[in-house]
Amino acid sequence: PTQTLPQMMAASVRRYGRRPALEFFGAVTTYRELGAQIDHAAEGLRRLGVSAGDRVALVLPNCPQHVVAFYAVLRLGAIVVEHNPLYTARELRHQFEDHGARVAIVWDKVADTIDGFPDDVRVDHIVSVDITTAMPWSKRFLLRLPLPKARESRAKLTAAPRARHVRPWKGLLGHGRISRRVPAPALGDTALLQYTSGTTGTPKGAILSHANLRANAMQGRAWVPGLRDGEETFYAVLPLFHAYGMTLCLTFALSIGATVVLFPTFDLGLVTTAARTRPPTFLPAVPPIYDQLARAAGRGTIDLSRVRFAISGAMSLPVATVRRWEDATGGLLVEGYGMTEASPVALGNPMGPTRRPGTVGVPFPSTEIRLVDPDDPEKDVPAGERGELLIRGPQVFQGYWQRPGETAEALLPGGWLRSGDIAEVSPDGFVTIVDRRKELIITGGFNVSPSEVEDALDAHPDVVAAAVVGLPRSSGGEEVAAAVVFREGAVPDVEALRDFCRTRLTAYKVPRRIVAVDELPRSLIGKVLRREVRDRMLRDR
Ligand code: ATP
Ligand code: MG
Repeated sequence: PTQTLPQMMAASVRRYGRRPALEFFGAVTTYRELGAQIDHAAEGLRRLGVSAGDRVALVLPNCPQHVVAFYAVLRLGAIVVEHNPLYTARELRHQFEDHGARVAIVWDKVADTIDGFPDDVRVDHIVSVDITTAMPWSKRFLLRLPLPKARESRAKLTAAPRARHVRPWKGLLGHGRISRRVPAPALGDTALLQYTSGTTGTPKGAILSHANLRANAMQGRAWVPGLRDGEETFYAVLPLFHAYGMTLCLTFALSIGATVVLFPTFDLGLVTTAARTRPPTFLPAVPPIYDQLARAAGRGTIDLSRVRFAISGAMSLPVATVRRWEDATGGLLVEGYGMTEASPVALGNPMGPTRRPGTVGVPFPSTEIRLVDPDDPEKDVPAGERGELLIRGPQVFQGYWQRPGETAEALLPGGWLRSGDIAEVSPDGFVTIVDRRKELIITGGFNVSPSEVEDALDAHPDVVAAAVVGLPRSSGGEEVAAAVVFREGAVPDVEALRDFCRTRLTAYKVPRRIVAVDELPRSLIGKVLRREVRDRMLRDR
């Protein structure tokens, strides 16, 4: 069957009708109710003038309206553009300039910001979502959300809010269900503009088709043995506006009739409360979240013993975290690898005892990989050597929105996607991600791998975390520099740490400059932003 996302959703609504599709602070939406709300919202959007090919911006935390809006836009053949609602006004404005959406469905906390954009990024209709309306009254006190930065900086960008049409979400739903005659999208149509995380530069809008997203959901199914249709409970602690949460907790989860418990932000208290009544069986997350949850499970404050599938991605998973999780919960923690441009999952460890901690596993079903010379991607590296990872498969994107140059760099002839990541493959096919190509440090002719230096620093008992970057030297080339978070109570002794590195690394790899910091800058999903570390060190030099 060649199904688009709305067709997949319609199939789930028919098949799982009365089963709970979403839970939000204890409030349940069944599949049938979700289907009806999607049809109503689609009709509301159609009346606002949305039609096939239009971009519709979603600026929302995880909430039921986010899911409804996502599928309603797709039903019209229009394109969902996801945004991080905690982005600053400037960052959001850049994205709106880029994609040019005229309709935006937004968290009420950012409605003013978007309403206040200057005329050249005029948004015609803003639908404002108060997420507390989806919560039971008695639970509203539980909601503690970080306030968007967008608000703080708004004043700098605009004089006064314009009288544009901001309407409440409820107003969208009052027009009845969409007619069957309204044409639905085709498999090759664009479903989503998904911005990359912006770890190495400005976020780029990756164009993902219905076929791409469907492929990744189906590959996920083939990857996970023993899934019980209509029985699983997914915890959406990752943001749905990021490719990882979107595919795992939305398109994949809803295609197998799972119940998705939505968390607007990761909060140990909220997860603990939810787990008492509807314990998770499927948990996609990132290492910092697994660490926190494993500690709580170890203390006995949360029961995670029913989690059969714990999947880590987006950044490398420390083996210590795997051990901590597996000791505390009795289940397996398995690492996968992906990128926005691959919808996003491309590789994964087997979901069972043959999984190999420290690696990202093997290519997904119907996915091929190659390792090539990063300076000449036409050339494969000899077996056993490191190279840049190329990926080919039905989940590989269509290109970057309005960036033909960058698209040509990333999408090679033959459909190969350049990942930008340096990797190694073991003789039996398990892949290890080593570094990002852009973050390799060039010192006087030698390449230094930041992750290798970080591993050496991390091995010191006083070190909690380290980020290694290259700083330009006046004499040309770069010098190795490190920002280090020391264990609480430890006296930061930079000289001793350097001596320690000398016992583990060749001289040119030993960081010339080491600075102690309170914490490392991280993206919302928790990735260390080496670019920011570098900028800060340059500023302070
Ligand atoms: P940008 O492309 O804007 O610089 P980004 O690459 O961080 O940002 P994403 O698409 O969210 O944006 O992330 C994909 C990247 O995340 C991969 O290219 C890889 O570097 C990293 N990554 C994903 N999974 C893993 C993993 N299991 N181990 C190590 N790195 C990973
Ligand atoms: Mg990237």
